Amino acid sequence: MRKAGLASYGPDSMGGFIVTRPRGYALWEKVQENLDEWFKGTGVDNAYFPMFIPESYLDKESEFVEGFDPEVAWVTEGGNQELEERLAVRPTSESIITPYMSQWTRSHRDLPLRLNQWCSVVRWEATETKPFFRTKEFLWQEGHTAHESAEEAWDETVTRLGQYEKLYEDVLAIPVMRGRKPEHDKFPGGETTTTVEALMPDGKSLQGATSHDLGQSFAEAYDLTYVDEEEEEQVAHTTSWGLSWRALGGLIMTHSDDQGLVLPPTVAPEQVVIVPIWQEDTREDVLQYSTEVAAELEEAGVRVHLDDRDERNPGFKFNEWELKGVPLRIEIGPNEVEDEELTFAHRPDGEQSVVSRDGLVDSVDAHLDAVQEKLYESAEERLEENVREADSPEEILGTIGKHGGYVKTPWCGDEACEQVIKEKIAAEIVMVPFDEEHEPDADECTLCGDEATKTAYFAKTY
Ligand code: AMP
Repeated sequence: MRKAGLASYGPDSMGGFIVTRPRGYALWEKVQENLDEWFKGTGVDNAYFPMFIPESYLDKESEFVEGFDPEVAWVTEGGNQELEERLAVRPTSESIITPYMSQWTRSHRDLPLRLNQWCSVVRWEATETKPFFRTKEFLWQEGHTAHESAEEAWDETVTRLGQYEKLYEDVLAIPVMRGRKPEHDKFPGGETTTTVEALMPDGKSLQGATSHDLGQSFAEAYDLTYVDEEEEEQVAHTTSWGLSWRALGGLIMTHSDDQGLVLPPTVAPEQVVIVPIWQEDTREDVLQYSTEVAAELEEAGVRVHLDDRDERNPGFKFNEWELKGVPLRIEIGPNEVEDEELTFAHRPDGEQSVVSRDGLVDSVDAHLDAVQEKLYESAEERLEENVREADSPEEILGTIGKHGGYVKTPWCGDEACEQVIKEKIAAEIVMVPFDEEHEPDADECTLCGDEATKTAYFAKTY
């Protein structure tokens, strides 16, 4: 992460913060571009709310305050004056956005109301800093919507989760599993928390993004009501959903190797790097051919960089671009010029091929697609190999202890059963899968022997 120029740690005296460098921010912008377009295409408008929330606003939803209280950073002074009311630095914005949604909603004609903001939030978490995975301040988007019915709110929750799944799978080349968080781990004050979970190479599960069906509790607390077609006043149903730069942590962890970063073509700041290889007598021809190739790719919309630095040799350049994760390298030497060919090398596995200069753009597109697919497939293989079953608490502990990954097992739904595992190895129930075909395939909870109502996925997390 540091050598690839993505981020640096923040000041020593301020643990838990990172500085995002341009190459890291460029990855975040790719995440933004994709999600923003999908959100806007499905009825969401962007807005922006203050980063501070008055304490009295936070206090209105009691479960919510309790849930977030230990992690809130407070402002008590401004311009050397003590404030009359403490201001929270937003840990999430339900408590300031919902009251405004309430002001803007009169009748059923004002619904659904769908807002999103791109911002940072602060959660004063005690755990160790892990750049992009767990920092005190992190960039994210938070969507907030209000609807007439519970059904619409649930549809909304699932729509957003589907968009997160698409981002992970189609853009970041990371397969995910969709599910619900157990009751005791849902968003404070909410009804149902849904999640996309991704398996990291170290065997831990990454909570990729969450989409919450908040039911009516926030609408009740912040007076978000509307008048229905029968002129009756009704309480709205709300949702919220967020994806943070943790997605970048997942991206870095999933694909990279000992040579450095590996990026899927969809998000790579440079999709192709051209490295010319010349001797003094071939310099001019090689450079001219390389420049033409670069121009043709650029014209076609490929993000291409021609590394024509004089002071560095090709070996140095190969290493540097490998470290930075460029998915496709094109090598051009005197032989390529003479034969009107190009040598391609794929970043993830070094696979090389010689292709004809004719049909350059089509070849590059095909190879970028192939790299994208390779990345997804190897992550998918890892996921498939790492979902195991267990028939006893000892087997759950042993399997996760030995292999990491997920253990799926029939569960009664009681938090106490999870606790048995959590206390022994820091593994927890990360989700209960979404699809109905995942009904528990045994009658009894593996942990207590009571009736099983769900299939639980246990894993270690970050
Ligand atoms: P939440 O509002 O708790 O559901 O969080 C929304 C999303 O933000 C989660 O799915 C996480 O992926 C992400 N997230 C939560 N805490 C952090 C953190 N400390 N650093 C980075 N991302 C986080």
